[in-house]
Amino acid sequence: MTIYNFSAGPAVLPKEVLLQAQAEMLDWHGSGMSVMEMSHRGREFIGIAEQAEADLRELMGIPANYKVLFLQGGAHLQFSMIPLNLLRGKTTADYLNTGAWSKKAIGEAKKFCEVNVVASTADNHFTSVPAFDTWKCNQDAAYLHYTPNETIGGVEFNWIPDCGDVPLVADMSSNILSREIDVSKFALIYAGAQKNIGPAGLTLVIVREDLLGNVVAGTPTMLDYKVHADNDSMYNTPPTYAMYIAGLVFQWLKKNGGIAAMEANNIAKAKLLYAAIDASNGFYTCPVAVSDRSRMNVSFTLKDAALDGAFVKQAEAMGLLQLKGHRSVGGMRASIYNAMPLEGVAALVAFMQQFAQQNS
Ligand SMILES: *Cc1c(COP(=O)(O)O)cnc(C)c1O
Repeated sequence: MTIYNFSAGPAVLPKEVLLQAQAEMLDWHGSGMSVMEMSHRGREFIGIAEQAEADLRELMGIPANYKVLFLQGGAHLQFSMIPLNLLRGKTTADYLNTGAWSKKAIGEAKKFCEVNVVASTADNHFTSVPAFDTWKCNQDAAYLHYTPNETIGGVEFNWIPDCGDVPLVADMSSNILSREIDVSKFALIYAGAQKNIGPAGLTLVIVREDLLGNVVAGTPTMLDYKVHADNDSMYNTPPTYAMYIAGLVFQWLKKNGGIAAMEANNIAKAKLLYAAIDASNGFYTCPVAVSDRSRMNVSFTLKDAALDGAFVKQAEAMGLLQLKGHRSVGGMRASIYNAMPLEGVAALVAFMQQFAQQNS
């Protein structure tokens, strides 16, 4: 039976990448060592790290005046590192509140500065992106933070906010590399690796150089972007194996047509799944506004929540794994990141149609 893993994260990785890692596990390119066993300061690993960065720069079109940092601590640590590094003498920052991850970022930022919530969709239970004409941007804000894809709610921006000269910061943990973006519109992009990049334990930060070097007094050395930038992400021991796997994923992306091809595939997958939900005569419902539905995390409910358990169990028996929704919202969630093939979504849709028929 073919297994399709719809986990929100850690999530599915390309099979080709896992097979390559398996083949290279004991002896990387004749080095006689596993990548896990290599010094991060040795010639071999430095080569792996440099290649990974170069491939990522090419894939995303990252301009030369941006640093690419391979860090640890997950997106959660970025919730603190961002104010510590980007306040730069200011006392207030703008945040959009579009769901669970925005809220967490806001909660942490409040420890370091005054937070101006520019707009919030709490009133509609975070089922849309707030219309730009309702936003209350503060031109004195140190930066504007938002979550382009709310992984739990399944809400995604299909446009990039513009609050004038205020630097834009984005938590792209669950949609980085899934669509083409213009990096130069952002001051800082960050993402935990475990959704659309590679294994857990690696956090990617892409930051404009001129913003570095002005941390809040007392900031620990390890939380200063400039320290990591000046040391090529090797101030301390980086997550070497996770960086290696991420590098293999970048090569897989390049081999498969890059981000443009991924985006086309992601559009096709999302379209197929949402169409099945919308055509189910109310058996399945997606609460998210049609224009703001995530291409990566498709959340939906069954008309009778008493059927949730049977849905998950029967799906598992068909090889369709990890469909249970986040505990905070219930229902189902199918995460369909880059490594999920169209066939996986087609298999899910076929199962959903059959399940609806049998339980209507
Ligand atoms: C998963 C996720 C996080 C949390 O990531 P960690 O690496 O566990 O800290 C934060 N933001 C978004 C948008 C996420 O999807």
